[in-house]
Amino acid sequence: MAEPKENVLMEKIVSLCKRRGFIFQSSEIYGGINGFWDYGPLGAELKRNLRDAWWHSMMREREDVVGLDASIIMHPMIWKASGHVDTFADPMSTCKHCKKLIRADQWWPLMCEQQWTQSLAALTEPVTNRFNTGDLLKWAKGRGKQLAPNLALVRNPEVTISWLVQEAEKGKHPADAREFYLYLATEQLGATGFITPCPHCGGELTEPRPFNLMLQTHYGPVATDENIAYLRPETAQAIFVQFKNVFDSSRVKVPFGIGQIGKAFRNEITPRNFTFRSREFEQMELEFFIRPDEAVEALHGSVATVPSQGHPGEPQPNWGWQAWHQYWVEERVRFYENIGLPRATLGFHIQQPNELAHYARATVDILYKFPFSKEEDGEVKGDELEGIAARGDFDLSQHEKFSGKPLGVFDEEVRAAWAKLPDARKQAMREEFIEAKTRTGIDKKKLTPADAAEAARKEADAFFEKLAKGQFVPHVIEPSAGLDRLTLALICNAYSEVTKTDDKGKSETTVVMKFHPRVAPIKVAVLPLLKNKPDLVKKAQAVRDLMRPWMNVFYDDGGSIGRRYARQDEAGTPFCVTIDFDTLGEKPDLLDTVTVRHRDDGRQERLTIGELLNWLLARVR
Ligand code: ATP
Repeated sequence: MAEPKENVLMEKIVSLCKRRGFIFQSSEIYGGINGFWDYGPLGAELKRNLRDAWWHSMMREREDVVGLDASIIMHPMIWKASGHVDTFADPMSTCKHCKKLIRADQWWPLMCEQQWTQSLAALTEPVTNRFNTGDLLKWAKGRGKQLAPNLALVRNPEVTISWLVQEAEKGKHPADAREFYLYLATEQLGATGFITPCPHCGGELTEPRPFNLMLQTHYGPVATDENIAYLRPETAQAIFVQFKNVFDSSRVKVPFGIGQIGKAFRNEITPRNFTFRSREFEQMELEFFIRPDEAVEALHGSVATVPSQGHPGEPQPNWGWQAWHQYWVEERVRFYENIGLPRATLGFHIQQPNELAHYARATVDILYKFPFSKEEDGEVKGDELEGIAARGDFDLSQHEKFSGKPLGVFDEEVRAAWAKLPDARKQAMREEFIEAKTRTGIDKKKLTPADAAEAARKEADAFFEKLAKGQFVPHVIEPSAGLDRLTLALICNAYSEVTKTDDKGKSETTVVMKFHPRVAPIKVAVLPLLKNKPDLVKKAQAVRDLMRPWMNVFYDDGGSIGRRYARQDEAGTPFCVTIDFDTLGEKPDLLDTVTVRHRDDGRQERLTIGELLNWLLARVR
């Protein structure tokens, strides 16, 4: 049985975040508000650095991506067109006893975190899931009463145990750890079937029903059904609805991308795992628009195939959606590696055909192995940081349909190439198109084969008629990342403890936050050796002022130098610069030199003040 464990490491990280001002509970003095978080001084810097790193790598280092900064509240029809009003829902169960709401697909991770499941786990045979009824009875009458008062086993132990015994006599035992708790939550199996227990009190959970995650508000002075608006649940839709404006105003040409960073809101049923699942969070999303494969084939004779693993290299004109998708997965992994998350800390979830939405051709989730990530089949794969989806032309087409405004593009090269294509090739492409769409209609939209084929033929007519004129609705590859989850991943990844023992055998454990210098909240701390020596202070302030226009510098003159180093280690500052008497020329050959101390190994080196800025810039950018 997978024994639930408390997450000691996560508790230490949460406590450090509060103590050092990375992350605070929102509205804490009023008791907090579930699912909302505030970033303190160090957290705000860290998050800003990540936001800048993403923006820089997407917009500044590339020719083919432009930015957008759209409003949070948009026309409500957008959410109808995108499908969010009708289908953006999670399955929710309610506890019939304590009335708490549970996201049904997170029932098991929630169960694993509870004290009552942890104490019960110790009472079962790990491999066979068998239990001793005497132990269960004792637990039900003791700890169970405090920890899970509404569990059938606790409310009515004799009756519950008697059917368990009857089942055991028939040779029936819980198949796995999850089923073990269903057994204990069920008083009369014959009458009710298995009951799923509430993770909070053990009571009976209702069947899951869909719960829409969008947060609603009203615009204008009077709240009526006519002026309902939604706080956007993702930033992506603004990109689709502004596609034409950006395209017409920016001299871009397909393939190109539009990126945006901004707040998103989801009324998560059970916000959990610190900031990982919040109700207000920030996303960094790119919509990368490409030609449909048929247009690529018309232009280049065929669509390039690339290996399904590894970076496919520099973009090529004959790339179709598969190559672009693979490219963006690998580009995003490179991004994470560049800010200090090595590939080994990441995991990948390739969505299976049955998980994919009807319009999606492929989705790969990049995961990070958080301390709370659960082991599955003997392996910790991690929890989602980012999803990279190939979404076809679904989004732009939906907005075309709902707004009545054309969102396609005209491409003269495609028009000319199509005109030269042999009829047999055009016909073959059309058949392939119809076959693929028919399959999707049957498998995903659950149409009858005849209806699916009919719908596919109509779609093909419209699509190829436009393509012949050089018109098409671009397809899209969407790398969509969460800024708060990334911030949390970097905090978890940076956290390390160092234990030192002094000459008298006394040991002390301190925390070192090993952020990559590129994202560290403070890049350099400037420390005068003594604060009561005006010459040292003056020099140190001059060094601080030299660095300030270029990076976040922290000036600290309080306490012993060892204490000051330790404070910076906890903040994750990669370099500490000490101004001492040699800097002032006590040893003439060391005049105007400083000591630079490296956070991760305590190594020190001497640099001239003249070379310091460039030395630092080479490491923190
Ligand atoms: P999950 O399955 O974890 O709910 P999702 O697949 O619904 O996430 P997307 O809709 O693909 O998430 O959103 C893109 C990214 O936005 C996610 O990869 C994640 O980093 C971030 N994100 C989504 N929901 C939340 C949330 N409630 N809190 C923090 N970040 C979130």
